[in-house]
Amino acid sequence: MSVLRRVRPASRSRSLRLGSAGLTALLLLSACAYAEDGSVGTGPDSGGSSQSGADELKTDIDTSIRTSESYWESFFESQGGQFTPVQGVIPYDEEGDGDCGGEPFVLNNAFFCPVGNFIAYDQNFIAGQYQAIGDAFVYYLIGHEYAHAVQDLLGIQHRLTIQHELQADCMAGAYLGDSVRADVLAVEEGDIDELLTSLATVGDQPGIPWFAEGAHGTGQQRTQAFAQGYEGTQGNGSALASCLSS
Ligand SMILES: [Zn+2]
Repeated sequence: MSVLRRVRPASRSRSLRLGSAGLTALLLLSACAYAEDGSVGTGPDSGGSSQSGADELKTDIDTSIRTSESYWESFFESQGGQFTPVQGVIPYDEEGDGDCGGEPFVLNNAFFCPVGNFIAYDQNFIAGQYQAIGDAFVYYLIGHEYAHAVQDLLGIQHRLTIQHELQADCMAGAYLGDSVRADVLAVEEGDIDELLTSLATVGDQPGIPWFAEGAHGTGQQRTQAFAQGYEGTQGNGSALASCLSS
C-alpha cells in the first residue's frame, strides 16, 4: 500500500487524481472514522506489508524530505523569497541522544527544532507507525514537521499551540495535495486511508482542552485542517494561501 511511495516522471504518471469528489469522500471518511468513540477508525489492511523493510522506509523518508524541500523552494521562489532548507533530518533511538535548545530528545516523537534548524525523529517510533499504518504516515509526518520549519522561516507565530499545529497540518496537506496534482507524488491504493489513520493517530486524547499548552487538535480537527490544504485551489485562492492566512 502506500500512496505516495514513488516519484514518477510526469509523462508516466498514473496518479489517482483526487478532485472535489475525492475530497468529499475524504471528509466523509474522516467524519465516519471518529464518529463513534473518538478512537482510530478501521486501520488500513495493507499497512506494513512484508516488503516494507528498513530500506523502503528510508527511501520514503528521503523522498518525503526531498519533495517537501522542492515544494517549499518553489513556493518561496514564486513569492520572490529565499528558501533555506533545514540543516538536517536526524534519526535517534534513545532518549537524550541529542537536544533542542537544551531540551533532550524524547522517545515516540518527531519535531522541528528552530534553535538548530533541524528535524529529528525517533526512528523506532516512525518505523512502528510505518509498519502499523503504512508509508503515507511518513509523508504526512515529514510534511508536518517541514511545515513547522517553513512557519519559522516565514516568522509565523500563533498565540495558541493548536493554531500553529493545525496550520502545519493544513500546510502538510497542501504539500501533499499539490505534489500529487503536479505528478510529483502518486497516490496509491490505500494511501488515503493511511492518511486518515495517521491524522486520527496524532490527534489529542479526549479531555485535552483546545486551549491547553501543547494541544494539537483532535483527530477530526487535524483531518479537517489537512483536508483544507489537500483540497487544492478553490475559487480565487490556492489552498496553501488559505492555510497561511489562518
Ligand atoms: Zn507539530
